[in-house]
Amino acid sequence: MKNLTLRNLTKVCNGVWHGDNALLDQEISAITTDSRKIEKDCLFVPIVGERVDAHRFIPDVMTKGALATLSERELPEADYAYIQVDASLQAVKDIAEFYLEQLQIPVVGITGSVGKTSTKEVIASVLKEKYRTLKTQGNFNNELGLPLTVFRLRDEDQIAVLEMGISDFGEMARLTKIAKPDTCVITNIGTCHLENLGDRDGVLKAKTEIFQSMKPNGHIVLNGDDDKLITVREYNGVKPVFFGLNSERDVYADQIESKGLKGVACRIHLGEDAFDVLVPTPGIHMVYNALAAAAVGRIYGLTIEEIRRGIESLETIRGRFKMIETDKFLVVDDCYNANPMSMKASLDVLHDGEGRRVAILGDMGELGEDEAALHEGVGIHAATCGIDACVCVGDLAVHIAEAARKANPDFPVYYEKTRESLLEHLNDYVQKGDTILVKASHFMKFEEVVKALEEM
Ligand code: ATP
Ligand code: MG
Repeated sequence: MKNLTLRNLTKVCNGVWHGDNALLDQEISAITTDSRKIEKDCLFVPIVGERVDAHRFIPDVMTKGALATLSERELPEADYAYIQVDASLQAVKDIAEFYLEQLQIPVVGITGSVGKTSTKEVIASVLKEKYRTLKTQGNFNNELGLPLTVFRLRDEDQIAVLEMGISDFGEMARLTKIAKPDTCVITNIGTCHLENLGDRDGVLKAKTEIFQSMKPNGHIVLNGDDDKLITVREYNGVKPVFFGLNSERDVYADQIESKGLKGVACRIHLGEDAFDVLVPTPGIHMVYNALAAAAVGRIYGLTIEEIRRGIESLETIRGRFKMIETDKFLVVDDCYNANPMSMKASLDVLHDGEGRRVAILGDMGELGEDEAALHEGVGIHAATCGIDACVCVGDLAVHIAEAARKANPDFPVYYEKTRESLLEHLNDYVQKGDTILVKASHFMKFEEVVKALEEM
């Protein structure tokens, strides 16, 4: 890894070197926190977790070929090289910041309340048409995940697309200091993490901390249809590029036509240029994500044709609105996470499905003191958006069920207290030919529901 010699590493993380000085000018091959993934000459970073203190794996990883390890403690017995640091997690962040500076490649940082991962996927899909692109894998978006993503970069990579997720003030400032984005993308300002951030103005303040370490002459790409983001006029002289469904935005889409669950067709306007594209995942929210990607593609000099190809070649991931065709049903696996905004968006898409359209909805977590009302909002939407039935599951989802029944007494609403009881009665709720949306917060483990439907 470029310039990651043990000497530089010791310096960067304010550590104390214990080992043979002859090793100091050697570069490490990789950085890993996973004792099962040891590459020859890597650096091992032992993280102290709630259940496991990874320091206990140090002797083992060293015999497997690691060049050195970090350690938060002195290791009197050690016959291998190690750098003693105060805190492994801080060291990881310091190393990531240093390493990214060595590589000098452009970084696109993506944050927002909802749609970060989806937007990251479309942006990477577009940029890969022209550049060797490294993107965050899955949801590795926090103070450990971001550095681990940075460590996957190699000299050949030409651009990095990094998802940045937070739940409190100050966190984004720390993430952006590591990433130093050239381009900052914010998808929207929603109602997640209100327990820490108070209200949507708090969310705006926390998310826009991303600008604090933006490179000079950077770019800001914002959802202009978001009433909070549209109020951002500039940051250090950088004016945002706004995207949205309104022809006043810098990048906008019109002629929007749902192609059912195949996706959404639209025409994207980029300054003087315009092109027709099929965004291959349903939901109007995906048009927004594609617009963000078009704006970023333009910033990095892609042609219209490259941008169009990149959007159309987007692949979907399990748990995030992935369509699964089984012998009996079309299952829409959206069980990775949920909040009021994304629940409503997904219900609208379900509406375009064929056969009976059934939503299986579970609890949404981390909503703060308004959680009951926010669940009720989803219930009202479910009962009035034109789908055929709704099954609500979990202690909080009872508010979805009650509000749905009240909003539309003719709408079939069922309730199960737990996932286990749902699985016992699943047969009663679904029929051959149904399109079934499965959605809840991650802790509800609704991937089990998807699995059960696949096996029916
Ligand atoms: P997390 O905080 O867990 O990282 P995230 O911000 O990465 O979440 P995604 O995983 O991309 O969000 O999407 C979450 C859900 O929101 C998905 O179910 C998807 O259907 C929906 N979604 C995706 N993009 C948007 C958007 N731009 N606006 C609203 N909803 C969206
Ligand atoms: Mg995510």
